Amino acid sequence: MLWALCSAGCHSVCEDADAVPRGGPYVLVLGIAQDGGYPQSACRRACCEAAWRDPARRRLVSCLAIVDPTSGERWLIEATPDLKVQVRRLDEATGFAGSPGRTGLTGIFVTHAHIGHYTGLQMLGREVIGDDAVPVYAMARMRSFLSESGPWSLLVSERHIELRELRASEPVRLNDRLMITPLSVPHRDEFSETVGFRIEGPTRSVLFVPDIDKWERWDVRVEDEIARVDVAYLDGTFFAKGEIPGRDMSEIPHPFIEESMRRFELLPARVRARIRFIHLNHTNPAMDPAGDAAARVRRAGFGVARQGERVSLGE
Ligand SMILES: [Zn+2]
Ligand SMILES: [Zn+2]
Repeated sequence: MLWALCSAGCHSVCEDADAVPRGGPYVLVLGIAQDGGYPQSACRRACCEAAWRDPARRRLVSCLAIVDPTSGERWLIEATPDLKVQVRRLDEATGFAGSPGRTGLTGIFVTHAHIGHYTGLQMLGREVIGDDAVPVYAMARMRSFLSESGPWSLLVSERHIELRELRASEPVRLNDRLMITPLSVPHRDEFSETVGFRIEGPTRSVLFVPDIDKWERWDVRVEDEIARVDVAYLDGTFFAKGEIPGRDMSEIPHPFIEESMRRFELLPARVRARIRFIHLNHTNPAMDPAGDAAARVRRAGFGVARQGERVSLGE
């Protein structure tokens, strides 16, 4: 048992698979990095050098799985460019033996049409897996984007994926003990809307908002959403202003972790402990769990999501 690693409070988040109640559904974190992963392509700066040298420091693109061990069902939230590895890790974590030419996924939920969130769908096509009608849940514009523009349209017309409708704030029942609700969030919506998700199990729930422009631009008070869940994975793309030299960061707005920590600092400690930053850019110093930035996050009562951690959704 590794309860010492449970930074969000006992029985809340754990890296030890044996510590999650057997039989109960859970969320498994399969990646924590921003769309480009870590290290990032073509980055020769200090932020990525150590990760190029040491595979143990690398992180996959942000992705959650929802697992129900009783029914054997497994859903992915996001189809990332790292889908190949993430499906493998999900198989290993769940003891899924595999069926030839199939991912065995019960469904995939996608938040929006930026590369870190949907391009893994290409693996389901005939060039690779050639999967059979995997349900892909998406909002209206996202569905049109997939069905009307190549190469994605081929996944639809060849029935490797089957598009299923999502509507903002309308819960989708996954089975008799799991529910998921898309929440519209403001983001750079060039090709699709953007949503986050609330995932609800028998007694516990998780919020996932990997990409949002700023908390203040949301027509929902993020604190109200955090209050409803046990663990909140929130956009932690950048740590602080000025983090990307030579780029105008107002063109790619995200709540800086520093801003979020200030906004949430007066929340009670037990509520702050629910917040775990995810979707970290390669430049984000909190990417290093042993570094000063991650220590600052922890001292302030928050956490940084860890690849491989699990959150029980109750029994
Ligand atoms: Zn993203
Ligand atoms: Zn995005």
